[in-house]
Amino acid sequence: MHTDRGRRALALRLISFTFCLSAGIVMTSCTAGETGPSADLIITNARVWTVDPSMPSAEAVAVIGDRIVGVGSSPAIARWQGPATQVIDAGGKRVLPGFNDAHLHFVPGGMQLDSVDLRDAVSAAEFARRIGERARATPAGEWVLGGGWDEMSWDPPGLPARQLIDQVTGDTPVFVNRYDGHMALANAAALRLAGVTARTADPPGGSIVRDAKGEPTGILKDAAMAQVNRVIPPPTLERHIRAVKRAMDQAASLGVTSVQDMNPTNADIGVYMTLAERRELDVRIYAVPMETDWPDQAKLGLRRGFGSAYLRLGAVKGFADGSLGSTTACFFEPYSDEPSTRGLLSEEMQPIEGMRDRLIGADKAALQLCIHGIGDQAISIVLDLFQAIETANGPGDRRFRIEHAQHMAPKDFDRFAQLNVIASVQPYHAIDDGRWAERRIGPERVKTTYAFRTFLERNVRLAIGTDWPVAPLSPMLSLYAAVTRATLDGKNPEGWVPEQKLTVEEAVAGMTMGAAYAEFQERDKGSITPGKLADMVILDADVFGIDPAAIKDVKVDTTILGGRVVYRGRPDTNQPA
Ligand SMILES: [Zn+2]
Repeated sequence: MHTDRGRRALALRLISFTFCLSAGIVMTSCTAGETGPSADLIITNARVWTVDPSMPSAEAVAVIGDRIVGVGSSPAIARWQGPATQVIDAGGKRVLPGFNDAHLHFVPGGMQLDSVDLRDAVSAAEFARRIGERARATPAGEWVLGGGWDEMSWDPPGLPARQLIDQVTGDTPVFVNRYDGHMALANAAALRLAGVTARTADPPGGSIVRDAKGEPTGILKDAAMAQVNRVIPPPTLERHIRAVKRAMDQAASLGVTSVQDMNPTNADIGVYMTLAERRELDVRIYAVPMETDWPDQAKLGLRRGFGSAYLRLGAVKGFADGSLGSTTACFFEPYSDEPSTRGLLSEEMQPIEGMRDRLIGADKAALQLCIHGIGDQAISIVLDLFQAIETANGPGDRRFRIEHAQHMAPKDFDRFAQLNVIASVQPYHAIDDGRWAERRIGPERVKTTYAFRTFLERNVRLAIGTDWPVAPLSPMLSLYAAVTRATLDGKNPEGWVPEQKLTVEEAVAGMTMGAAYAEFQERDKGSITPGKLADMVILDADVFGIDPAAIKDVKVDTTILGGRVVYRGRPDTNQPA
C-alpha cells in the first residue's frame, strides 16, 4: 500500500514535471510540493552522498510511503512538507544509501548472537559465569550452544572440565566449542543425553578426555564431538525466529538494510516467509540456496530476483574450493608454507562435469549463479564453467558471481570483465588473513590477492559484503578495511598491498549500488534517487572527511528502511545538548 502511494506520487510528479518542461515554465516552480501530495518523511540539513552520478550530493530527501520522491537542497525539499510529515533534522550529518551486505549467512549469524559468547572470557570463573547466565535464560528443552573459548588466554591457562559448569547449568544441556572448532566442552546433562560414559570408546580420529578415575571430563576432541552433536535437536521454530530477529536487530543497528543470504536452509526461508507475512521483516533478504537443489526453484519457474521488496529468491550458491586458512583453497602452484599441497576442489566439483551440468541447467532456468572461489585455480575453473554456460545457453544478462574471488591469476581479470562476472568480495577478510597470507602463498601471489583496485581498473564490478558470522557484520569495518588495508595485527598501518586500496567513494559504491546490481535490484536500491526504496542511513561522523583510520569507530545514528525508522542510536542526537 505504501509502495503504491510513493509510486503514484512520483508518477504524478513526473507528469507535472514533463508538463512544465513542455510548457516552458521554469523548473523550480514545478518542483514545489504545495500542489502535490506531501511527504511522509523528510530528512533535512544533511550531507547526503547519493551514489547516483546524476546528482552525487544533496542536503535533503523526501519520502512518500516506502519510496524516495525528492532529493535536493533543504529549501527545495521543504516544499514537500505537510502537516503530517515526520522531519528528521540530520544536524549536518552524513547520509548514505542503506548498506547492502552482498554475502553473509544470516541465520548462523543470528544463532551466534543467540548463543553464549566465550571469546573474550578471561578466566575459568568468567567462562562458568557466562554459561550459567545463559543456561538460566534458556527455555526448557533447548541447549546452550556457541562458545569460541580459548583456555590459553585465561589467567591461569587450563583446559576446563564439566565440574566447572555442572552446578550452574543443572538439567540444561551445554555444548560449547573452543574457538578453533577442534574441541568442545559438554556438561553432565549433555553427556547423559549423548550416552557418553566411562565405558564409551574413543572413536577413530577423536578422543574423549578422561579424569584419573576414567570418567569423561566433558572435553571431546575432533571426531568425538560428533557423539554429542548428533543428539542436539534442530532449533525449534521459536528459537529459529528468535535468531532471525536478533540478526535483524544487529543489522538495523549497523545500517544494513539489505542482505544476500548464502546457503540458507529451506527452514530458514520458511522463517523469513513467516516474518514477511507478519510484516516483521526489518531487512530485505535475497535468499540464495545451494546449487545442488536448483531444480526446487526451477520447477516453480522462479528466476533471478523473484519475490517482493522484502524477500526474494532466484539464485543458487555453489562451492568450487575451500579456504586459505585450512589450505583447502585450490591454487595452480603449491602453498609456499606447505609445498605438498595445492589445495582441493570441493566435493561438488568432483567431477567438474557434474557441476557444469547442474549449473547449465540452473542458468537455463534463469537462476543466478553465485560460486565460491578462493584459490586462483578454482576461480579459473569457475570462469571456464561460466564460459561453457554462456556457450551452451547463449548471451543474456545473467550476472554471474564469484564469491570471495580472493586470489586471482593475473590472466583472469580480463575474463571476469568479458563474462560480466561480479567479484563479490569481503574486505574484512583482507585485513584479517593479511596477517599471515603472504607466508602461505608468497610475495608474488599476494599482489593479486584481495585485488579490489585491479578489479575496478579492469572494469569488473565489485559487490561488497562481510561473510558474517565469519567476519563482523559491521559495514564500517568493511569500509575501513577496503580503504586502509591495515591488518588487524597493526603491522601494516599504511596498508597491506596498499596499491589495492579503494577510495571511500568506491567502497561505499560497492556496499550499495554494486551490491544492488549483484542481486538485480539496481532499479530499486543502491542509491538515493527518486523512485527507489527509501533505505538510508545517517552516520554520526562523516566517513568522507575523517581520517580513514577512524572509520572503524563511526556509529550509525539512524537507519531507515522503506521510509520507516528501524534504528535510532542515541535518542538525543538531534536535540541541542
Ligand atoms: Zn560465506
